[in-house]
Amino acid sequence: MSWPLVRAAAAVAAAAPGSLSKQYNVCGKPGCRCKDPANPQRHGPYYQLSWVHACKSTTQFIRGPFLAEVKAQLATYKAFRKLTDEWVELALQVAKIKLQAAKDAAKVAAK
Ligand SMILES: [Zn+2]
Repeated sequence: MSWPLVRAAAAVAAAAPGSLSKQYNVCGKPGCRCKDPANPQRHGPYYQLSWVHACKSTTQFIRGPFLAEVKAQLATYKAFRKLTDEWVELALQVAKIKLQAAKDAAKVAAK
């Protein structure tokens, strides 16, 4: 990607799209605590990150030590998206104002 803003944002902080989910699992070991009939204690939590990029959906397990880093990347991505949405919104407003100004100028010239 060569878009300067994207490169600048990547230099400041890593950004990643997606959402984290927490899971608890049952294993195949006979007599394990996860299958205790009275008080089953499932294994976990395991964290899973799911995201869609370039029309491709991906899911990845995130190990505990990387959880904080991944959460920070998700927050950075959210903030980045919010800023670009605002930027696009402003660009649309500017385009609308310019169009109106051109129409007004044409009306004045016609008189
Ligand atoms: Zn188990």
